Amino acid sequence: MTGQRHDIAIAGAGLAGSLIALALRRARPDLSVLLLEAADEPGQGETWHWLAHQLPDGADLLLSTLRKTSWDSGYEVRFAGLTRRLPGTCHILTPHDLGAALRRELDARAIRCHARVAALEAGAVMLDSGERIAARTVIDCRGFAGGEALSGAWHHTLARHLRLPAPHGLPGPVTIDASLEQGGSLRFLSVLPLGVDELLIADHALLPTARPDRRLASRRIDAYSASRGWLDAALLGHEAGCRPVVAAGDFAAWQSSLAMPGVVLAGSRAGLFNPLTGQSIAAAAAIALRIAAEAELPGEQLAALIAGEARRHWTATAPGRRLAGLLLGSGAGLTALERLYAQDEALIRRFDCAALTRADRLRLACPAPGRGGRLRLATGAPLGDSAG
Ligand SMILES: Cc1cc2nc3c(=O)[nH]c(=O)nc-3n(C[C@H](O)[C@H](O)[C@H](O)COP(=O)(O)OP(=O)(O)OC[C@H]3O[C@@H](n4cnc5c(N)ncnc54)[C@H](O)[C@@H]3O)c2cc1C
Repeated sequence: MTGQRHDIAIAGAGLAGSLIALALRRARPDLSVLLLEAADEPGQGETWHWLAHQLPDGADLLLSTLRKTSWDSGYEVRFAGLTRRLPGTCHILTPHDLGAALRRELDARAIRCHARVAALEAGAVMLDSGERIAARTVIDCRGFAGGEALSGAWHHTLARHLRLPAPHGLPGPVTIDASLEQGGSLRFLSVLPLGVDELLIADHALLPTARPDRRLASRRIDAYSASRGWLDAALLGHEAGCRPVVAAGDFAAWQSSLAMPGVVLAGSRAGLFNPLTGQSIAAAAAIALRIAAEAELPGEQLAALIAGEARRHWTATAPGRRLAGLLLGSGAGLTALERLYAQDEALIRRFDCAALTRADRLRLACPAPGRGGRLRLATGAPLGDSAG
């Protein structure tokens, strides 16, 4: 057991835990905060991107000191029958840059890597090593844990970071490119420009299990790069990951299988992500700011407050789950997504901000005459296996 009692201990230095630690450091430098991470570096994960308009008030300030790549001329989506450039500023953050910000901004003693958490309780964190760390408030940010109470699919991504021999010439990200042969599956590619000659090209597949199909994904990246003339590139790195697409669920049952009395549950573990896209940076930033503003509360009260925020988020994202159900139910292809991106900009913006209305939902399910048939809804498979 260590002698010091911390004000706040955070288990898991992924996206959510890192943003909470940064927000606390800025708002409450007087507090003793400890960030515990099982891996050898904090802030790791996959390259994240988001649109400026997705962020809640104050979040741009929280993210302002992070080194990012930003594109002001919008983003593009490409489907079989629709290519469209949409307005917005798109930011891209690499795990390397998030890790560097944590190292730069937090006291070295505030981050402990190689610290695998074995158990949590109100007032203490137990490590695998047997060490017990006391803290007034304990926050669990150990990442998504599925369960039989949720159903949907797994969104697998394989990405290659390339340096091209010449500038790529893209004015901004291509977030969905379904122009490559789909073979009736739920697959697409994306391209995030990380510099004038650097790209992160990713293959995305929605599959019923957490087992990826990396060989096919790799072949699709090769074919796509060749079709765009991006040849003779230097490979700078690669990323592979998997996130949930949630089409239905019993939120209370899921959360009660993960919650521990008096421990704050945050991040994707608390359901704080977009159920269709899996994106979580906007929700993670909002919760980080809320925790920093209420950091004085005893652990039990903060846990109840954040559980309430998570319930509200679940309710607000019901249209996203329905859209995920339409995507899974359409059987083949990305019809539901193509229909979404054919709508007016205001509706797409509401989708970006996880704020679709009931009227939006009806518009997406029942297209205008001559724009295809009504889509079928499906709930997918139980999200019981881990994303590993
Ligand atoms: C390929 C891919 C691309 C994505 N792209 C985007 C994007 O562009 N924009 C976006 O907003 N979202 C994106 N997401 C989703 C986003 O990355 C996740 O929603 C987000 O990482 C969830 O944050 P989290 O902190 O809850 O969990 P994680 O980021 O998974 O962090 C959990 C952390 O806890 C640590 N941990 C786990 N168990 C223990 C333990 N026992 N002890 C100590 N530490 C532990 C893990 O090592 C990890 O560091 C993407 C996801 C994937 C897979």
